[in-house]
Amino acid sequence: MMITDTHTHLYSEAFDDDRKAMIERAISQNVSRFFIPAIDSTYTDAMLRLEADFPEHIFLMMGLHPTSVKENYKKELLHVEEMLSKHHFYAIGEIGIDLYWDTSTLEIQKEAFKYQIQLAKQYDLPIVIHCRDAFDEIFEILEMVKDDKLFGIFHCFTGTIEQAHQAISYNMKLGIGGVATFKNGKIDQFLKAIDLKHIVLETDSPYLAPKPYRGKRNESAYIIKVLEKLAEIYSVSEEKIAEITTENSKEIFGI
Ligand SMILES: [Zn+2]
Repeated sequence: MMITDTHTHLYSEAFDDDRKAMIERAISQNVSRFFIPAIDSTYTDAMLRLEADFPEHIFLMMGLHPTSVKENYKKELLHVEEMLSKHHFYAIGEIGIDLYWDTSTLEIQKEAFKYQIQLAKQYDLPIVIHCRDAFDEIFEILEMVKDDKLFGIFHCFTGTIEQAHQAISYNMKLGIGGVATFKNGKIDQFLKAIDLKHIVLETDSPYLAPKPYRGKRNESAYIIKVLEKLAEIYSVSEEKIAEITTENSKEIFGI
């Protein structure tokens, strides 16, 4: 069995004390492919180190996270472009709009999002979308830029079934993580109506730990709990879920 964590911040300070042991713990449980979303330039060195330490397991993305879109965002976007020109990345992410933490930056968040979608198209890469309290704003932009070159993952999908169908209509897979195991997570109630070919697994470590670790530090090995939950929802084996979602991740990331 091979399990793919399509969204995990393994370079986070939360893992400074036990990063290697934590990654090896995941690998020993068949979680052997880790896709690493970027946040901003302050983490680039740590991401490159991670890739050098686990070259067969770590796949990096490049991008500017919406909560890091601040006054210096143009400089940050230049950093993204510069890194793309000299290193191979597997996606532009995570990018999008976050109106939970800060609504005052909405206009520049939109601008940075659109700009990075164009970069993804230019490099033939998927996008990995971060959406918090911003479905309408994100769909409005995707509606404007949709075409054959637009594809990717709607990370940590927490919307309604209608929003799920709309995301899929833009060639997006739905990134499903710990929220599917929460009692009030809601998505578990309609997920069965969404074909598994549209689903990828993720942890978003160190955030959003699944039940029974909810509220604690999340790590990639805990993706097993999401796998178990999906096997229950879809009434298929855990092996089948792992196989299909890993295939879906290969389709998106090209590896
Ligand atoms: Zn993330």
